[in-house]
Amino acid sequence: MPAAPGSLGSGARCSVQAMAYGAGFAATGTPLSVELDAQGFSLRAPDGRELAVPWSAAGVRRHGFNDSRCEIAWHDGHDRCALSLGDAAIIAELYALPALREAAAAQRTSRARRDRATRRWVLLLLAIAALPLLLFGLVLWQFDSIVSRVVSGVPVAHERAIGSALIGRYTEGKQIVAGPAADMLRELGQKLTQGSRYSYDFRIVHEPGVNAYALPGGYVVVHSGLLRVAENAEQVAGVLAHEISHVEGRHGLASLVRSAGLAAVFALVMGDTGAFATLSRQVTDLKFSRDTETRADRDGLERLVRAGIDPAGMAEFFKQLDASAARMPDWISSHPAPLDRHAAVQEAIAKLPPAARQVPRLPYDYATIKAALPAAEQSR
Ligand SMILES: [Zn+2]
Repeated sequence: MPAAPGSLGSGARCSVQAMAYGAGFAATGTPLSVELDAQGFSLRAPDGRELAVPWSAAGVRRHGFNDSRCEIAWHDGHDRCALSLGDAAIIAELYALPALREAAAAQRTSRARRDRATRRWVLLLLAIAALPLLLFGLVLWQFDSIVSRVVSGVPVAHERAIGSALIGRYTEGKQIVAGPAADMLRELGQKLTQGSRYSYDFRIVHEPGVNAYALPGGYVVVHSGLLRVAENAEQVAGVLAHEISHVEGRHGLASLVRSAGLAAVFALVMGDTGAFATLSRQVTDLKFSRDTETRADRDGLERLVRAGIDPAGMAEFFKQLDASAARMPDWISSHPAPLDRHAAVQEAIAKLPPAARQVPRLPYDYATIKAALPAAEQSR
């Protein structure tokens, strides 16, 4: 049947030459004759099969150079097949067919739905991919509050194990001083730590530097050089009270976690004190912020008052520190300036009730205790 322009829409059939591609056709296309009508198209495949495909199951689009040809595609089982038509009059009629227009509209709708679904999936995948980044950002942003939460949840026994793993490293190869100074330090320490959940270990290390530090779990180390600079037991008590406040506030533990990073947080959360101690080995110094130091001064002052020790010793010691500044580079570098601390502590003392300030002196002959310290030149 020859092509009959204008007749497809009115129910007529027409026959047109086309190239067929896909399963069952030649790789370079099979020329054949196709019957078209308002409902669909039919053809005889090279293997003799009669195919009849309704427009609703076919996709029709322009293709070829200048879009002058028309492709009709359909699925034959799992295989995609296509016809390519070049007859301009027939193509115009095809596009005017209501059934084809409806099929095209339905396909556009389903494609739009598919696109929307795809967009949703892409967004979801992007969100999943961005989640670790977001979490990481959140962790960085909230690191300090995460650290304090994790640190406050560590059992005392774990903290003690961490401190015990660290104390050996801090005092390795150093002479531990015994005698009256060590006795005094222990007695002052006991007075200042009444009712504490920690069991303390106060040590004097024979070192010329004017230094004292606290390690997690109740370890407090004082250098003999600091005891030489102090003038009386009240001043030593002031230093001890400050260091004890670092222990009670878990400042050392928090500082270690901050320096050792997220892996340390994880080790602590898992209760893996061994791993934590290993990570902490990379941390050479416990660094405290000025705020932390100021807090330890303030808490230490309250601690002195509760223990019935004259808090003026703490303020006096900062004066002493300032006077001996040339000999104490490490303490100065990590702490606020001694004179600032002196002023702040003096101010706090002035606000105390008179009874807190008028207390008996501590019963130590400090000059004798100092004289019993190992000779300074023996220090390593
Ligand atoms: Zn401190």
